[in-house]
Amino acid sequence: MNKFIPVFSPDLNGNEKLYLNECIETGWLGSNGPFVKRLEQEFAKFCNQEYGSCVTNGSAALDVAIRAMKDVYKWEDFSEVIIPSFNIISAAQSCIYNKLKPVFADAEINTWNVDTSKIEELITNKTKAIVIVHIYGLPSDVEEIIKIAQKHNLKIIEDAAQAHGQEYKGRKCGSFGYVATFSFFTNKHIACGEGGIVLTSDKELIDKINYYKNLCFTKDKFIHTDLGWNCRMSNLQAAVAYAQFEKLDKTIEKKKYIGKKYHNLLKEIPAELSVEKTNYAQNHYWIFGVVINKELKLTAKEAIEKLAKENIETRPFFYPMHKQPVFNELGILDNIKRPVSEFLYDKGFYIPTGLNLTDEELEYIAEKVRNLFA
Ligand SMILES: *Cc1c(COP(=O)(O)O)cnc(C)c1O
Repeated sequence: MNKFIPVFSPDLNGNEKLYLNECIETGWLGSNGPFVKRLEQEFAKFCNQEYGSCVTNGSAALDVAIRAMKDVYKWEDFSEVIIPSFNIISAAQSCIYNKLKPVFADAEINTWNVDTSKIEELITNKTKAIVIVHIYGLPSDVEEIIKIAQKHNLKIIEDAAQAHGQEYKGRKCGSFGYVATFSFFTNKHIACGEGGIVLTSDKELIDKINYYKNLCFTKDKFIHTDLGWNCRMSNLQAAVAYAQFEKLDKTIEKKKYIGKKYHNLLKEIPAELSVEKTNYAQNHYWIFGVVINKELKLTAKEAIEKLAKENIETRPFFYPMHKQPVFNELGILDNIKRPVSEFLYDKGFYIPTGLNLTDEELEYIAEKVRNLFA
């Protein structure tokens, strides 16, 4: 097969074009447009939250959400927030921009989510919140984390950017956090190129979020008492995201199909694959991960290079937050070991799960992955 297989490709065969045309025909381009409002209301309701606020991306969603929480709960500067080490940088970066200190918890070896038994040892009298992330489309053990949060009077921030429509014990991801955030980046279950949303059921909090995302305008327009950001979402982005939201079930169905197929085709290889289910959730396979067995010399980096030669695009796993040069430079790291996150980076990578993949392509990819171990 000579065709290049990208790690992801979106399905834009729903109402995306129709709704974009509607924006152009009605002249609604900006953030006051009807698709923005519709998406905010309906997506919030879908996740069992009262309010939604669309923003430009999932990282901005965390920026304004964390800023608003710091304000409303009067967290002092350099208060601490516990975040999975095996994660994208967004939440940790938002903490630092908001003068909070991220503290990193190690991952659990089977699910790649946070190891809930490693959270309590990180709690100090400065800890204010725990960020839950549902890594790669599999929910974290939410109940365990909530138990710890309640015991220590901490707030939950839920980053559900990889878990649109996913459920923990039948309850929607995005419904657990005091605030929940999502990304609508191109490769997410709901995609509009760039986009995101913050959800909460707290009126004071959503008002603050809307304030910070809109340059901190006050009633006296152009008179400011705070500094914020402009991260408003356009009606064009919301039109595409809304069309994608309408067919979220279909997207998840296809992802589950791909996951099942890969499990069948790769069950013999000496590697751990994205787990099919836990006792609280079924995997949606936002991505499909492969973690090469410890005993083998093969690293993720080598596997990625070999597959690239076969025209298959893959991605490395997250580089642990507690190893990031930038955080080292900032002097915020401790000496606690997080060996699982480090192992996952060395040995983990993910293979294509685009929504347009054919069976033939899936079989081709699986064959080339099997060959890595031959
Ligand atoms: C994608 C993602 C983000 C960042 O979203 P962007 O829209 O790319 O800024 C944050 N957190 C998680 C868990 C993500 O997967």
